[in-house]
Amino acid sequence: MDESIRVRHYLHRHPELSDQEFETTKFVTEKLTEFGYRITTPKTLNTGVIAEIGQGSPVVALRSDIDALPIQEDTGLEYSSINNGVMHACGHDFHIASLLGAAKLLSQNDINGTLRLIFQPAEETHVGAEEVVESGATNGIDAIIGFHNKPDLKTGEIGILPGGLMAAVDQFKVTFNGIGTHAAMPELGKDPIVALSSTITALQTIVSRNIFSHSSAVVSITHIEGGNTWNVLPEQSFFEGTVRTFDEKVRAEIKERFYEVVNYQSRSFGLSATINWITGPDVVDNNVKLTKIVEDETSKFAQVVHPTPSSAGEDFAYFSQRIPSVFVFVGSDGNSDWHHSDLILNDDSLKYGIEWYYRIGLRLLNSL
Ligand SMILES: [Zn+2]
Ligand SMILES: [Zn+2]
Repeated sequence: MDESIRVRHYLHRHPELSDQEFETTKFVTEKLTEFGYRITTPKTLNTGVIAEIGQGSPVVALRSDIDALPIQEDTGLEYSSINNGVMHACGHDFHIASLLGAAKLLSQNDINGTLRLIFQPAEETHVGAEEVVESGATNGIDAIIGFHNKPDLKTGEIGILPGGLMAAVDQFKVTFNGIGTHAAMPELGKDPIVALSSTITALQTIVSRNIFSHSSAVVSITHIEGGNTWNVLPEQSFFEGTVRTFDEKVRAEIKERFYEVVNYQSRSFGLSATINWITGPDVVDNNVKLTKIVEDETSKFAQVVHPTPSSAGEDFAYFSQRIPSVFVFVGSDGNSDWHHSDLILNDDSLKYGIEWYYRIGLRLLNSL
């Protein structure tokens, strides 16, 4: 245990940004080699580590992310980051130390099938999971699991939910193309300000009028622009915002209604709208059958809680859309929240991270 805490403190002192985790990659590779793992990292991955032990089927994968954030640490810890402006403010150091701790324990067991470890780069920029899939490193996997530490859960609590655990994150930008004119003679133009106002109001009916009452979703318009003085109607207006959903069906419904509302609204005002839709991470969608097994095993050593889903995004979703998977929250009893410069996690929580990877890895190898 002391060894795992030392490992986490070392990683915490040496955080690296997304897709630049070169020292972390070296550190993890050395440890896994020492534990007897075959290093199988594909050449196309510049950072990140893939390793295996055992052989044949089933193939069970345990995933940890490894990157840090461009944040100046402000914790006052003696193991604070020595890399200026970079901090493990999401606790991915906690994830790496947990998976390395479990890897050591697993290497001392008989493995039924193949255990594959995925130390994934670039979670924060939401490209790493895709890089790993593209590299072929997920080929042949029967089940994949991972967790995120959760500062608002206590040490010993593990949050498990079947279905959507973390939100799909989409972004939109809309421009109304009208005809500018003198404010005193609106009949000579096409007013993009009234069209924008009406559209924003109408978009708020998507969640309240179109989405099933037991589904949850958020449509937020966060930024609007249009015009620059009091007596001229401008040519264009603009708004942007985000949609958060927990179910791919609801996500598709909202996108469809969004396009309809914006297009019909703008047409009703005699002007056109340009929509730029930016698709972000998918829903982290836990496989119902596997989640039952995971919950049963977890309840043997920790306090299982059923958390509310988080409207933050997580690129583990890229795996969960392709491979049966379970993602959970491991309580890390923090003083603050993800991405805060003062976030300190409780070292006592680390043993639950190790135990979770270790026990769930073995259980799945023996039950698939
Ligand atoms: Zn993060
Ligand atoms: Zn994170």
